[in-house]
Amino acid sequence: MPPPDHEPGTAYRLSTAVAICSAADRLSQAGNAIEGAYSSRAIPGGQLTNTDIHVPTVLGVALPTPVRRLFDYRPNQDGPPTGWRPGQRVWVSFGRRELVGIIIECRQYSELPASDLKPILAWIDDAPLPADWLWLGRFASRYYQHALGDTLHQSLPARLRQGRPLAARTQERWHLTDKGKGVRAADLGRAKRQGALLELLHQHPRGLVHSAITAQGFTREQLEGLRDKCLAYAHAEPVIEAPRPQHILAEPALTLNQEQAAARAILHEGLDSFHPCLLHGVTGSGKTEIYLQLIEAVIKRDRQALILVPEIGLTPQTLTRFRRRFQVPVVAMHSGLTDTERLDAWFAAMSGRAPVVIGTRSAVFTPLARPGAIIVDEEHDTSLKQQDGLRYHARDLALVRARHHGIPIVLGSATPSLESLANARSGHYRHLRLTQRASRHAPARLELVDMRGRTNRGGLIPGVIDTIEATLRAGHQVLVFINRRGFAPTLACQSCGWMAECSHCDARLTLHRQPPLLACHHCEARHSLPDACPDCGSADLRPLGAGTERAEETLADLFPDTPVHRIDRDSTRRKDALEHTLNEVRRGTPCLLVGTQMLAKGHHLPHVTLVVVVNADAGLYASDFRALEHSAQLLEQVAGRAGRAHHPGRVLVQTLHSDDPHLSLLAEKGYEALADSLLEERRVAALPPYRYLALARFESPREGDVMALADTAAQAVKARLTDQAHTQCLGPVPAPMERRQGRYHVQLMLSSTHRSKLHEASAWLIDWLDRSSQARRVRWSLDIDPQTLS
Ligand code: ADP
Ligand code: ZN
Ligand code: ZN
Repeated sequence: MPPPDHEPGTAYRLSTAVAICSAADRLSQAGNAIEGAYSSRAIPGGQLTNTDIHVPTVLGVALPTPVRRLFDYRPNQDGPPTGWRPGQRVWVSFGRRELVGIIIECRQYSELPASDLKPILAWIDDAPLPADWLWLGRFASRYYQHALGDTLHQSLPARLRQGRPLAARTQERWHLTDKGKGVRAADLGRAKRQGALLELLHQHPRGLVHSAITAQGFTREQLEGLRDKCLAYAHAEPVIEAPRPQHILAEPALTLNQEQAAARAILHEGLDSFHPCLLHGVTGSGKTEIYLQLIEAVIKRDRQALILVPEIGLTPQTLTRFRRRFQVPVVAMHSGLTDTERLDAWFAAMSGRAPVVIGTRSAVFTPLARPGAIIVDEEHDTSLKQQDGLRYHARDLALVRARHHGIPIVLGSATPSLESLANARSGHYRHLRLTQRASRHAPARLELVDMRGRTNRGGLIPGVIDTIEATLRAGHQVLVFINRRGFAPTLACQSCGWMAECSHCDARLTLHRQPPLLACHHCEARHSLPDACPDCGSADLRPLGAGTERAEETLADLFPDTPVHRIDRDSTRRKDALEHTLNEVRRGTPCLLVGTQMLAKGHHLPHVTLVVVVNADAGLYASDFRALEHSAQLLEQVAGRAGRAHHPGRVLVQTLHSDDPHLSLLAEKGYEALADSLLEERRVAALPPYRYLALARFESPREGDVMALADTAAQAVKARLTDQAHTQCLGPVPAPMERRQGRYHVQLMLSSTHRSKLHEASAWLIDWLDRSSQARRVRWSLDIDPQTLS
């Protein structure tokens, strides 16, 4: 290692530094450094490898490209005031573009000759981006084997990706001066508006922000008028300011029941250590109340709490519930924010001004100045896993993060994932159970309703329609769950059996009535309705099966005096449409709700006492090994909507397979019994959580290219794995939907008894693909711990 070079000016003479290193040293050091950046070397304690180099001659920069390595640049003369450091953003030229990169390494050597190194164009940050964020990004990049530059960029707010400065936006807060405190409106004579403004400021001893003042109709001139009279003054503060209220709580916490209190006690035992708990409680059992009390304890210790919720769960209702409890700021991170708001939230979190941060999947990357606890609500929810680009699971990263910080983490669910249940069973997590609802009613059991050989209207059989009618007559609300939007799954010819199919996908076209068209739900294809069958010319074309639109139409026909609200992706496109409908429903007058899984989760619908599942069979015989787990979770979640407030609920589940063993087990014994049986099946079949999987996906418009590549790749991996009993390569096989969006999809599965072995094999496969010329014509990706095999 060359001695640190402190002498200004000489630092940029790379050749001097290089000459000190022997060629062999250079190569091995560079290799280690790059490997450390994106593959296997762990960085202890999140400390970056800045060593003692004050004036580096080479900067290893992560750039937003899919290429799995760092890019070397030369520091320019005009460096940041405190010197070059890992974590700083810089502008660099890359090909013909200028990109924002992040310095990962400051070193004295490069594999490239000095003359090939381009200079940094300009520095952006003097203070590096937060170390905890960088640590997690590096971990995610290694674990998911995704390019570090792309990983880091995906986990940054857009404004920072664009090279904007990392600084809090400020706002003006206006206060009365000591002189102003002694003056009242009457003293101002004819300056009536200034007088009114003065009175307003009198009402707010902690001051009032400018936007709140103008929102009440006052102008800047009036404010400045008061200032000119030395009655008021303004100071600048960050947009999200941490008030230091005397009391943390804005409303009292609830008195916990026995089970809740026991769970709380265990959670609060270990606030200073990594302490993973599975909070397993039926819907309505008061999990959220436990989260709120944990957060309270965290804030009392002057730490921050991070709460992750599924996409669908971060409703205004949820946020209100958190905001109502605390006097401190509760900052939300979700897709509805503008880029500027997102940056404000990020900055408030990283600077510690936001004691409570609540967000969807990507919020797991939010930096925290003083992390105190992490909560993952609905930890089984599939939206916590990103399905493209960096395919990370926010729950799993949250666990890694909690361990890194040495703080407790709570995974909450009514229907835990099999992974988490297995971890609870094996003692890796504390298993905290809540079996009773906070209200007096026990959760409703599923009642299976055999539809075989029965006529139906819009998917509903006569007996079920009668029950709906009785429920409405009793003044209650009914939820009809049908996980299929559109009018009908397809359009069929009665004469020859033709069915409308997508020409780009192996899938049927869905019939929509509002507006009338045939649409593919897997690509963007849209077609107008045909007048006659394209195969035989018959005009007798009929909808086959039922979707939400058809159920809505049928229910409106059957119950003309009762409002029917449809909730699916089509009916809620308009901003706030969902909240608007749900507010309508919460008023409590009898109504019918028809919807997809958008309705199943998170929403509190206290007046629904009957839930009808139109068809429970979709997941029973699917090829995906997680399909049963996911449909059982969905059924339980839907069932959880029934009877939450003052009335017991009923859940009717229509099925063509009422004797299916899994479905019967779920109905008779509940989710946990089914989960145990599924876990046993997974063990026998050597599937997760008893094995670790990585799925390589290949796609191309040319069928021959994909299969050929997947085949060659499989042979290469298998040849390498011959003597390794713990790790297997399975396939290639066509994806369950082989043709999608005009492209052919093929998969290859790696499976291992050891996580580290799986990672070795995947790294080897990636490396092989990176080097294969065949792979350049095919798009491929690798999914570690895949959640679906589609
Ligand atoms: P979960 O998050 O498990 O679905 P919630 O925390 O939303 O359950 O609780 C369901 C309902 O019960 C809420 O209205 C909540 O205010 C109420 N609740 C929870 N715990 C208590 C308690 N200890 N005493 C009274 N009401 C409670
Ligand atoms: Zn026909
Ligand atoms: Zn299609």
